[in-house]
Amino acid sequence: TASKTKDIIEQTSQFGAQNYHPLPIVISEAEGVWVKDPEGNKYMDMLSAYSAVNQGHRNPKIIEALKKQADRVTLTSRAFHNDQLGSFYQKVTELTGKDIVLPMNTGAEAVETAVKTARRWAYDRKGIPEGQAEIIACEGNFHGRTMTAVSLSSDQDNKRGFGPMLPGIKVIPYGDINALKEAITPNTAGFLLEPIQGEAGIIIPPEGFLKEAYEVCKEENILFIADEIQAGLGRSGKMFACDWENVHPDMYILGKALGGGVMPISCVVADEDVLGVFNPGSHGSTFGGNPLASAVAVAALEVIEDDKLADRSLELGNYFQNKLKEIDNPVIKEVRGKGLFVGVELEQPARPFCEKLKAEGLLCKETHDTVIRFAPPLIITQEELDWAIGKIQQVLSS
Ligand code: PLP
Repeated sequence: TASKTKDIIEQTSQFGAQNYHPLPIVISEAEGVWVKDPEGNKYMDMLSAYSAVNQGHRNPKIIEALKKQADRVTLTSRAFHNDQLGSFYQKVTELTGKDIVLPMNTGAEAVETAVKTARRWAYDRKGIPEGQAEIIACEGNFHGRTMTAVSLSSDQDNKRGFGPMLPGIKVIPYGDINALKEAITPNTAGFLLEPIQGEAGIIIPPEGFLKEAYEVCKEENILFIADEIQAGLGRSGKMFACDWENVHPDMYILGKALGGGVMPISCVVADEDVLGVFNPGSHGSTFGGNPLASAVAVAALEVIEDDKLADRSLELGNYFQNKLKEIDNPVIKEVRGKGLFVGVELEQPARPFCEKLKAEGLLCKETHDTVIRFAPPLIITQEELDWAIGKIQQVLSS
């Protein structure tokens, strides 16, 4: 078996489908914000597995919960109860202020669940004629890779060759309140959005949009569904990105950091009048709500709360963004972000800069060609951040 970077990359390319284009680095060990390749070279991780490792790699409290639970029971299926799921539910409801939770595994599955919820709610509660429910989504969205998620997408690359797409979807420009109002019909079930668009390049909607969109949804009896999978759980400098406008969505979709970078776990959270539309047999997942992931998720959420990671993200994020804005180079078009969720938009492709940063020991990834996304684990220290800023200044100034 392959053991060194070159061999491992070859092996991976030979036997795997080519659905990703990773930077040519193999990570074989990680701790906190740092990762190592098989040759022992050390790098700072400024991507955090697309914000799934907000708590830092192998956070000791989360690993402890994993090990403890691995020695007890890992999977029961939902045919039986397990003794961890209830605590997970309770923790998530306390955090969100909602009544109930439906657990899944990946983000895309939670999005599926949210769309199914909105549709069934539309028929059973709102009285929309069967088969007519519409979901409004936003241009530039990223909700995952399942058929529902790609059907929501406005990116033709995500959809090519995968049709026919799911019907009942309308897409409006992100952040355009009038477009939202115009798209609404008596058959609209829900408005689904990322409160900050991550994959689109850290796109922040115009101030006031979330609040206004929420109010429009209330007036029209439409579910406001926030995909907080990437922007939530401290990443944007608030626990949820919707908190920036004091919006309490009808449905939260959570994933990524919910499992602390250790276990895939996702969920949909809402009040009883919404998520109560499910009955036994109507939805589920073999691994959804398993005791191992539940125990890990409780620990993952405790770390975010106890270590005040949202506050940390806000404080260090402001500092970081100000430092980035000081870099004087016409190649930089814009620096934008909330907390440690930062995009640097360039006038040219971002990938060569990511490769140069990698050579300097800093890992990040371009998104949408011209944007470098910086999203380090939220446990990063000021000192570590200063080290990163030095490297970024060096690479982006030249
Ligand atoms: N929704 C958002 C906002 C995301 O950023 C992602 C992943 O990047 C997903 C959904 C899909 O999550 P997963 O890759 O776990 O299916």
